[in-house]
Amino acid sequence: MTKNFGLVLPDRVTVYVYAGRRPFERGLIQDARVSPVLAAKLSDIAIGVGLRGQILLNEGAPAQTGREQLRLIAHELTHVSQIDLAGGEGRGEQWLAEGMAEWVAFSTLERLGLDTLSSRRLAAASGIRNHASLLQGGLALEAHGTPPGFTRWHVRDGSLPTYQLAFLMADHLIARQGLDTVRAYFASFAQSSDRHANFRRAFGESITEFESGMLAHLNVTAGLLVPGAPAEAALAITGPSVP
Ligand SMILES: [Zn+2]
Repeated sequence: MTKNFGLVLPDRVTVYVYAGRRPFERGLIQDARVSPVLAAKLSDIAIGVGLRGQILLNEGAPAQTGREQLRLIAHELTHVSQIDLAGGEGRGEQWLAEGMAEWVAFSTLERLGLDTLSSRRLAAASGIRNHASLLQGGLALEAHGTPPGFTRWHVRDGSLPTYQLAFLMADHLIARQGLDTVRAYFASFAQSSDRHANFRRAFGESITEFESGMLAHLNVTAGLLVPGAPAEAALAITGPSVP
């Protein structure tokens, strides 16, 4: 990943592998020192977690083919790199953290000859087209950018289409601005925690401006007609973060 994507990893990354949901939950508490409440939620909605210098994987999850296991490892290692760049967890827009992790994971599979980015793009476009509720109220990136806001989105609409949308958004940004710019965006959080200023400085537009352009792009590429509904009202932040 360092060679192909310039994603630097810490000198030491510990990988924990668990044989099912219960051991995964216990591991989150004992090995990653996640709170019991958050560990219960995470083990329910995630099969892998990338944290500072460590990834935790639930290998007991059903339907885990070899290719999907590779995708998951590359996805979580991308989070480890993002966290290292940003100097901590939960920094940067969460949809971009997830979308970039998917982009790197799919690109890794493509390099291994196991999948292609273009087939993932097609699958993602059709996935979100079949989940009309996903875009109810537009993209609402302001609300969905925080870890709890993103979690609520994928709990409400399902992990698969939400991650497919996050991938398409990151893919659009990477196509226009390059992976280096996205990497520099995460690194900027080591200097400042101002998510709005960091986004604008890295990409030359505000989150709201990106959202408008993204909707127009989705309308063209995915054949979506997203109503220009007002963004979701500010959400009370009580949910867990999904690293
Ligand atoms: Zn992730």
